[in-house]
Amino acid sequence: MNALNNLREKHQAIKKLNLSLNIERGQPGDENFDLADPMLSVLGIDQRKSQSGTDLRNYPGGAQGIPEARALFSSMLRIEKDEIIVGNNSSLQLMSQVFMWAMIRGLLHSDEPWCTKKAKMIVTVPGYDRHFLMLQQLGFDLVTVPMTPEGPDIQAIESLASSDPEIKGLVFVPTYSNPTGDTVSDRVVERLAGMPTRAKDFTIFADDAYCVHHLTDTPKIPKNLLKACKEQGHPERVILYGSTSKMTYAGAGIGFLGASQANIGFLTKLFGYQSITFNKLEQYRHVLFLNNYSGGIPGIMQRHATILKPKFEAVQRVLHRELGGKNLATWSNPEGGYFVSLDTTRPIAARVVELTREAGVALTPAGATYPSGKDPHNRNIRISPSRPPVSEVEKAMEILALCIQLASEEYDTQQARS
Ligand code: PMP
Repeated sequence: MNALNNLREKHQAIKKLNLSLNIERGQPGDENFDLADPMLSVLGIDQRKSQSGTDLRNYPGGAQGIPEARALFSSMLRIEKDEIIVGNNSSLQLMSQVFMWAMIRGLLHSDEPWCTKKAKMIVTVPGYDRHFLMLQQLGFDLVTVPMTPEGPDIQAIESLASSDPEIKGLVFVPTYSNPTGDTVSDRVVERLAGMPTRAKDFTIFADDAYCVHHLTDTPKIPKNLLKACKEQGHPERVILYGSTSKMTYAGAGIGFLGASQANIGFLTKLFGYQSITFNKLEQYRHVLFLNNYSGGIPGIMQRHATILKPKFEAVQRVLHRELGGKNLATWSNPEGGYFVSLDTTRPIAARVVELTREAGVALTPAGATYPSGKDPHNRNIRISPSRPPVSEVEKAMEILALCIQLASEEYDTQQARS
């Protein structure tokens, strides 16, 4: 009881400080945005046409993106120039458009629209809440598989995909997954590309939002999923997604998708029914800025890493110092991306988030990393240290660690009573 009272007193004292710290959403910090500010002035009167001769002010140009942007972002996704559509400001929007077309019309190899039967989608947990919300709002039933240090649980996926024709695909983050930071292994890539599926239009939606967001100088680059699918005779099986939301500006960047030439032709036509063209001026602004950045895309990503690394190090330092060896929680130590995933040993995540909120620290709601916001084990907490300065990350982590200790102590006391 002494330990509990002691922790309660500490918590009360912090509450009185009226802090307002936020490690809730994965947003870049202002220093990250500052790196891209020269982009605001790269467009001038001379840039009414792109180098390839596209008139950036007018409609013609199609719904596949300007050639210069296709060249730049296809190299980022490690695919061919004719395997990409470069769109507007959001990869999530491109993904949702493909889901919508799949539901109401079907994809290239579909016999019927996916909504004709109850479409199911495999998602990884813990995972990204916006994927879950988007899919559920569109009427998909979600089937969860665990995320592992090698990527999605491949055995579970093989078994689901080979047995149920209503399972239409998989949505996951291949590199530095949101929130665990795990990256898919070559072995899992090969198996995803080659596995038998009951649905002939089974599609892997690989959200590679963090494919160049390394925090180390020696990143592990996984085998390319599109290449693997082509090699294994399933070229239409995968659609890759990426954006510059965490390279230039969040919400004012450029989103793109990568897929086989046949899929690109199919999707370009569909997108062309929705909009005559994408915002080509914005695409060209990004091309001019990123191509001329010292070191190109790897160059700016290194600068981002320099800003982000101390924040991720602060998370590890404080968690080890405050919780190390106490058997109260385990947490990931990602080599890239934007998140750290923490699991409490006891089923107390919701209480921890409540306590941290009372103490002035906003965290992603407990359960958000599972469909319908329900973590069946009530253990997972997503930490997003990217936006606040290092000192605030440190303070927020100290408070989180205290709240984990307090909630664990509360739980043990209650268990002892009952
Ligand atoms: N995918 C993942 C996995 C993300 O974490 C995020 C941002 N939190 C996004 C997509 C958002 O991408 P965009 O801004 O291109 O829509």
